[in-house]
Amino acid sequence: MPTIHSVQGREILDSRGIPTVECTLWLDSGQSVTTSVPTGTSKGKYEALELRDGDTGRMLGQGVLHAVEALNTVIAPQLIGKDPTQQAELDQLLVGLDGTANKAKLGANSILAASQAILKAGAAANNWPVYYYVQQKYQLTQSLSIPTCIYCLINGGEHGADNLDIQEFQIIPASYVDYLASLNMAMVLFHKLEEVLIAKGAIHSVGLQGGFAPNLYNNTDALEILVETIKTSPYTLAQDLFFGVDIAAAEFFEAGKYHLKDKTQPFSSQELIEYYKSMRNSYHVFYLEDPFDDDDAKSWQALTAELGETTLIVGDSLLATNKAKTEQAIKDRTCNAILIKPNQIGTITETVEVIQLARSAGWQVIFSHRSGETNDNLIADLAVGMGSDYVKFGPPNRGERIEKYNRLTQIYSDLQIMSQQAAATAAPQTAPESTSSSVESPA
Ligand code: PEP
Ligand code: MG
Repeated sequence: MPTIHSVQGREILDSRGIPTVECTLWLDSGQSVTTSVPTGTSKGKYEALELRDGDTGRMLGQGVLHAVEALNTVIAPQLIGKDPTQQAELDQLLVGLDGTANKAKLGANSILAASQAILKAGAAANNWPVYYYVQQKYQLTQSLSIPTCIYCLINGGEHGADNLDIQEFQIIPASYVDYLASLNMAMVLFHKLEEVLIAKGAIHSVGLQGGFAPNLYNNTDALEILVETIKTSPYTLAQDLFFGVDIAAAEFFEAGKYHLKDKTQPFSSQELIEYYKSMRNSYHVFYLEDPFDDDDAKSWQALTAELGETTLIVGDSLLATNKAKTEQAIKDRTCNAILIKPNQIGTITETVEVIQLARSAGWQVIFSHRSGETNDNLIADLAVGMGSDYVKFGPPNRGERIEKYNRLTQIYSDLQIMSQQAAATAAPQTAPESTSSSVESPA
């Protein structure tokens, strides 16, 4: 098995034009892999720490040169000569080098860049695509398939034009819709939505994820416009697709109340539960992400008790891909699904542990991008290889989002070939050849 020859980190820009960390790892076989770390805008307070320079004379204080230095001078020397397939051992080494509870010393951005590079290198060392390597390694799923895609068509909240409180208005294809058909649905509806918004003079721009950030008065308007858009298409709401929302409620929680534009007075928790129930009934919203503040556990529990049978109640910043937080939420029945963002916790191994835990509770798993993305498509491979039920990669718009969908399309055709081969030989599946765009030719 090849070993790690060298590791080089650097500062690059994410899709918002804000610095983030990229890492290239070379194996002594001559193979190299490159990976980069996404970053969030509506970050949860329980996420691992993303190290920023804070030097206002450069990159508005957002530089990550200290994180890069940690990667190049503290982490890299420890990885040289190591076997990249020993992910758990190497991740433990990274966590130990940092030594803090929230990765505050080296930064979750430098640590995850190394952890992701190790994973890609492990796959490259086997000459396997990353999704296949991940499936073989972690055995979180028996079969490989493309998760259901949650497409965010309208951006509000911190991602939008500052007029909608809810951060994401999503469409979710019905389970009978296969991946390529779902991509077609998302593409058709995204462009039809543009026509509807233009006709209303409501186009403002696109938001951080590339979804429309229109001029609308309130959150209900956004759902109404989506309903109107669907009527101009071949699709039927509640038959071919459903709605989802990422409320990101922590962003409008103040002094125990929720301040939404849909009502002049702020909502109490009970009023907000009623609001979600009516959204569920009137608009077929069956996915509610971060419906309450991260510390408002009682409201989460009440909502899960009321709607949990029929609706995904999804913990994103509530859980921060954190094992202790997830354990607590399982015990307290706070939600029934988890958003997985590796950069909230900082290593691949810890991410896997959280997924194992969520699965043991029967929760649904949703792999997610961040608002500040790069063109790394690793999360598409992780989602497939770890058997995620859903993925949330934004709208079918903008290069950094499209890159994830295009990677799913490549994996989709790999899986078709594998199943055709399996049918033809009636033999166990053979490992696919590596098609991962992140694996570069030997130098
Ligand atoms: C989210 O909240 O789910 C999200 C993708 O946003 P961010 O990356 O800004 O946290
Ligand atoms: Mg969220």
